[in-house]
Amino acid sequence: MNKKMYELGSKRSVIRELFEYGKEYAEVHGKDSVFDFTIGNPNIPAPHTVNDLIKQAVDNPDIHLYTSAEGDKEVRKKISAYIKKEFNADMPVQNIYMTTGAAAALSIVFKALVDEERNEFIVFAPYFPEYKVFVEAAGGVLNVQRAAENFGFNLEGLEKLITPRTVGVIINSPSNPTGRIYSKEELSHLFEVIAKRSTKEKPIYVIADEPYRELVYDDTEVPYIPNLYDNSIVCYSWSKSLSLAGERIGYIAVSPKAQNDRELFLTICGAGRALGYVCASSLFQYVVSESLGLTADIEIYKHNRDRLYGALKEYGFTLIEPKGAFYIFMKSPLPNDDFMKIAKSLGILFVPSETFGVDNWVRIAYCVSPDVIERSLPHFKKLAEICGLKKE
Ligand code: PLP
Repeated sequence: MNKKMYELGSKRSVIRELFEYGKEYAEVHGKDSVFDFTIGNPNIPAPHTVNDLIKQAVDNPDIHLYTSAEGDKEVRKKISAYIKKEFNADMPVQNIYMTTGAAAALSIVFKALVDEERNEFIVFAPYFPEYKVFVEAAGGVLNVQRAAENFGFNLEGLEKLITPRTVGVIINSPSNPTGRIYSKEELSHLFEVIAKRSTKEKPIYVIADEPYRELVYDDTEVPYIPNLYDNSIVCYSWSKSLSLAGERIGYIAVSPKAQNDRELFLTICGAGRALGYVCASSLFQYVVSESLGLTADIEIYKHNRDRLYGALKEYGFTLIEPKGAFYIFMKSPLPNDDFMKIAKSLGILFVPSETFGVDNWVRIAYCVSPDVIERSLPHFKKLAEICGLKKE
């Protein structure tokens, strides 16, 4: 048996541990006394249109059969047209590969880019921890650079980390866990640095992981990365935008401006085949292709963000205002172990930032019902008081 896989399968994740703790706490104190902000599972239902499409499609026997490995052509045509309309970017049908969510998209891309000589990827911390799992499963190495002060890109650090073995830089905007959206200007500076080190023989790809693209507040712009950097690959998912996380549907899009894009796409097809990620759910390929441009009602997330961010600030916590996704990243006023212990004793569960590669912050997932936010506030207030925080 493979020891590494055993380790991955048997070791409980921090989030899982907290989930179990929450269940035990609820048994003792009642389920209304637990405020679980650990998991990024969308709590807003999918739009009615999506449910209607599923119901209508289910009786069509053809919908349950295999599509081609890279996905149904008509579906990909619609996605290609949508990308043109929405971002004014050419993304030919033959550059789109349907996947079972962003997780599969990323795993395929990492597998496709690693070869014997070149196998390093770079990410800025804090980062989504599964990148490391997926990169290592593909035989690659994930090099981590601490983000700059305000969770922007640390360009000096990045320059030092790029080596002739570097094949990719991963960007996640809006970000899990910070809720940060990178501006066009920040991205352009980043791409200048990468482009300087990317050569014809040894291209460096930018992998844009975009499951939160539509979860955006205050009209913040989320620049379309293929419009700013040629060697780019987008990994997209409808898990969050349509609240279809359990249905596992997304895609990979290789920029037609990427070097040898045809060869790269075929390598992606090969990696998908080798990993068994062929023909994403045909029912959901159809459903998403008919729902392009729709999102779940994200006003509820906005309400939660405004309420929770405002209250936490008022109680004296240090945090950054999230512009997208559904997470608040908050500085721990005490060493994280102590802070987590006190929060848990008050029934508040969130994820310590060590999971995301930085110390002494916590991630609060506010994709919960507004009622949970409201009832949690007195507990957060008490937490601030115990930590000795002063009100604003
Ligand atoms: N990337 C990031 C940053 C995520 O937060 C997640 C899920 O939470 C994924 C990728 C995986 O998404 P999917 O459900 O589409 O596999």
